[in-house]
Amino acid sequence: NADLAMYRAKELGRNNVQFFSEDMNRSILEHLSWEQEINDALTANQFTLAYQPKISLRDYHTTGVEALIRWHHPEKGFVSPDRFIPVAEETGQILAIGRWVLERSCTEMRALLQSGALPENARIAVNLSARQFAAPDLETVISQVLQESGLSPSNLELEITESTLMLDVESAIATMASLQAIGVRFAIDDFGTGYSSLAYLKRLPIEVLKVDRSFVLDIPDDTNDMAITAAVIAMAHKLGIIVVAEGVESEDQVNFLRNNLCDEGQGYLFSRPLTLQQLQLFLREAQTATLK
Ligand code: C2E
Ligand code: MG
Ligand code: MG
Ligand code: MG
Repeated sequence: NADLAMYRAKELGRNNVQFFSEDMNRSILEHLSWEQEINDALTANQFTLAYQPKISLRDYHTTGVEALIRWHHPEKGFVSPDRFIPVAEETGQILAIGRWVLERSCTEMRALLQSGALPENARIAVNLSARQFAAPDLETVISQVLQESGLSPSNLELEITESTLMLDVESAIATMASLQAIGVRFAIDDFGTGYSSLAYLKRLPIEVLKVDRSFVLDIPDDTNDMAITAAVIAMAHKLGIIVVAEGVESEDQVNFLRNNLCDEGQGYLFSRPLTLQQLQLFLREAQTATLK
């Protein structure tokens, strides 16, 4: 009978289950407070964007930028996206956040393109989470944002990870094809960290492949990482895909990447993620440097 079951549960709870349930309560409460904090952040404009330049390894001009979200919490200070994006992904708040990131980055970068600070064919990269990528209204959202900001579709690049792509390959291909038809391009982010299927790679309409930072990190000390990086570059090129190395921090890495014909680099060696003002300055200084 129900009462008896309830009684038994309570009895149990008093002993062995207690520790477990306290732990669970704590994590649920923590999660709820994060959810509330993220809502507050959205309404109180606590999010900003940073832009990290991507650099041609041929002539070192800026080929584009990646938009990276920043959260300055009034008490906690800087909160890393690695911390709150997964929570927002779980709660569904990533859809509102993601839309905000798209709107803000497309508007700000359209202005930079118009001022001539960025080359006409610059690629403005925005990260898409799994949930955003799977949203049935993705195409509508992208079209609206492009129209409202005035950014040309050919300037927009969407970064998605291998794991996002592999969740449902067939629908991923369909989603990508429909966006590609309006001129948007795709980059595969953190390549090499998910379980990459090379068979799918040739079927996916991908124009850019970003080699994960973990492979670049130990160049030139780790010969395995060097072999993998060189092979990935060669393979991507055979498929007509542009290669960007992530997390470039040293001259040695640049030399290795250049020798292996890697197209572009992104990392602290060239620039950290910058505020809009800092990015404008960075681009202006780079322009005067090439004029000299
Ligand atoms: P990601 O897309 O792979 O972005 C690259 C990350 O590496 C950024 O971290 C960047 O600041 C960092 N990075 C760049 N160059 C270097 C370097 O030379 N050395 C080192 N150690 N790190 C470098 P960040 O900004 O903390 O972002 C972390 C992750 O959070 C991103 O990885 C991305 O997955 C996610 N993220 C960031 N912004 C957004 C967003 O607007 N939407 C979504 N869905 N995810 C985002
Ligand atoms: Mg990225
Ligand atoms: Mg990445
Ligand atoms: Mg990453």
